Order: sequence, then C-alpha cells, then structure tokens
Amino acid sequence: MEKIQSIRGTKDILPDSINLWHYIFDKFNQVSNKFNYKEIRTPIFEKTEVFHRSIGEGTDIVNKEMYTFTDKGGESITLRPEATAAVVRSIVQNSILNESPTARLWYFGPFFRYERPQKGRLRQFHQYGAELIGSPNPEADIEIILLANDLVKSIGIEDYQLLINSLGNANSRKMYRDKLVDFLNENRDSLSADSQARLEINPLRILDSKDENDIELLANAPVILESLDEESKIHFDFVINTLDKLNIKYEINNRLVRGLDYYSHTVFEFRSNHLGSQDSFGGGGRYDNLIENLGGKSTPAIGFAFGIERLILILETLNKLTANADSIDYYILTQNSQYIPFAFEIAEIIRSNDKSAIVEIMRRSIKAQMREANKLNAKFAIIIGESEFENQSITIKDLTNSTQETIDLSKFLTSLT
Ligand code: AMP
Repeated sequence: MEKIQSIRGTKDILPDSINLWHYIFDKFNQVSNKFNYKEIRTPIFEKTEVFHRSIGEGTDIVNKEMYTFTDKGGESITLRPEATAAVVRSIVQNSILNESPTARLWYFGPFFRYERPQKGRLRQFHQYGAELIGSPNPEADIEIILLANDLVKSIGIEDYQLLINSLGNANSRKMYRDKLVDFLNENRDSLSADSQARLEINPLRILDSKDENDIELLANAPVILESLDEESKIHFDFVINTLDKLNIKYEINNRLVRGLDYYSHTVFEFRSNHLGSQDSFGGGGRYDNLIENLGGKSTPAIGFAFGIERLILILETLNKLTANADSIDYYILTQNSQYIPFAFEIAEIIRSNDKSAIVEIMRRSIKAQMREANKLNAKFAIIIGESEFENQSITIKDLTNSTQETIDLSKFLTSLT
C-alpha cells in the first residue's frame, strides 16, 4: 500500500522534539501567572463572519489565506487564522466583562493560514498570545509589552529587536492615509503590481511591502508619526517614555503597520536575525474598536501573539536546547510469559508510588530485554524468573553501577514509599 503524506505546510511534532514545546509552554505559563493572566480556550473553528468583521476585507488573511468551507448544515465555517477575533467573540458571548471592567487572558493552540510554506511559515502553526482587555490607557500597552518581553527572555532569547510604531486613533489614521495615498498615486507607476492593487483597498499595507523598488520609494513617503493628533501623540509618548524608564530596548519603526485592519495606536513586533526572511516571531497591538465591531460594548484592548515554531527555530540556532533527557525508573523483564501478570502487578504498584515503569511486551530473550532497558535509559531493571516468582521476590539491577541483588517483594515495595 502507498504511504499517505501529511498535508503540505503541516508538521508532525514528534516525541523527540515535544520537550521543546513543553519547555516553552511551561516557561510561558509561569510568566503569564506572574502577571495574573488566565487561560482561555476557544474552538479552532468559528463562523466565517467572526474573521470577516474583525481582520478586515482588504487583508491577505481574509482575501487569500483562510481555510473556509461550508459545513453540512450550510454554514460558512473558518479554521481560525488568529486568536484575537475568536477571543473577543467569546468575551462578548460570555459577558466576561460584566463582572470586571478588565480581563487578562492568554491562549495557546494551532492556527491555520493558506500561505506558501517555507522555513518558519506553515499552514498549521501554533501561537501563544495574550490579551489585556478594558483599558484605553498607555499603561495597558506597557503591561502587555512587558509581558511579551518577559516571555521572550524567559526562554533564554536575548538577541532580538522590539519594533514599535503608532497608528494613532481613527482621526490620525485617516489623515495619514490621505497623505500616503496622494504620495503613492503620484508614484503609482513605480509601484509593484501587488502594491498597486493594495493602493485601492488597503494602502497602509504597502508600507509592509518586501519589494525592493517599493522599499526605496517608501523611504520618501510621509511618516505616520508626523500625522498623529494630540491625543495619539500623548498616548505614544507615554509608552515610549515609560519603556525608556524601564530600560526596555526598542526601535521606533515608522513603517510597521502589521497586517490586520483592527489595530490602532501602539503596534509592535519582535524580530530576530536568526530566522531568515520570516524574521518576525511575534507581534501585536491595540485594538480599541474590535469588541464593538463584534457586537460588544465599546471596550479598548491590546494583545500580542508569538509563533512557537519560529521561537523553536531561534532556540535551535542558539543551541540552547538540552537533548531529550527522558528516562524511566524501572524496566521489568520476565523470563517467561507466565510471569507477566506478576510483572504488571509490580508495575502498577510502582506507578502508584509516582515512579515510572514499563513491562516487556515483546517476549524477547533476557539479554535483548536488558538491551532495551539500557536503550530506554532505565534507572533499574527488575528481573522476574522462576525463583523470584516462586519466592515472591525480585532481582533488581541498578543500571547506573551494574550492581544487582535479589530482595523480597515486600521489602522492595516499602522502599518505594
Ligand atoms: P500575526 O498573527 O500574523 O501577527 O503573527 C504573529 C506571529 O505568529 C508571527 O510573528 C509568527 O511568529 C507567527 N506566524 C504567523 N503566521 C505564521 C505561519 N504561517 N507560520 C508560522 N508562524 C506564523
């Protein structure tokens, strides 16, 4: 029979690399707890409308990348391409903000985008992210940036860039958009085809262009920070000045717009030189209108997400990851299949004492079983032969120093507790 391959752009996480995932997840969990963020889990699919109404029609995600299908009941369903919209849908539906005006939430899970797969870019990838809901003030921006920054540091990544920009409030953005469109229209013929198309639907995204000619042209484009109105400027200055006081390193990047429509005011992104062309490993921003757009009371919020696969790529280049040091406590060898029930009995008692145990299941020779015990890095081998079985005893071999003794089962069991 022919082998079946996994879907392009998806990856199995195999047992020998799962410890990296646990490492990141455990560290992130500890840090999130210190900030008093609570986990939220939403379904991996939502009504398509959740993403159309939030991410925005002119964006790559909505136009090209969503896994959308009609289910058997005729409903348009989408595998979530990101979390924020789904989290907001959940907050509104479950009236989470009725009890307290603020919510601190984190999430972890798979996300789906139909992108061209390459290093660090998958069609199913994983994000760990957080949302701080309820405050319009720049101190919320600071808290969320500190959380994001602490998460990165907690896994030993020190060498990265934190880029920050402000998209201002709706008024500033409109003023800027007009100026930018005027400038781009004057230079329309020099723009790449992609950017020309974006000029009609989502001109701010042109600032994100990777096309070299576009980049050269954009060097002379109007700068958003110069279009900020007073309110937007005060907000951004507070963020920047507080980061300075806290000695958080950042770079202001005028061209950082991020891909989604719902952002306003502060946006930020984490980049690494260890990733090649997909150099962003996390990012986020303020989304003050999203909750209202999804049917809730007007509530400001800010959040971010990290891509776990990209964090793992960085950790791999830094050689920070320790080899899988898994081991088991006891490997139970049986000389004859007759003793297998006895072996399982012992294994269950070992496990009930919070130690790990495996019973041989291949009915191999004792020599081959011993080889397996060593291969699995077992600390002890327990050998059950005829005399052990008859006398209710076990032979136990310490595989670290190769000493061996035969002891009463009852004595062994008391030694476990
Ligand atoms: P975004 O939701 O686009 O702001 O992405 C946040 C982070 O998720 C990015 O910085 C990446 O680390 C990660 N990410 C986004 N899209 C992908 C993808 N297709 N494959 C792998 N990681 C991704």
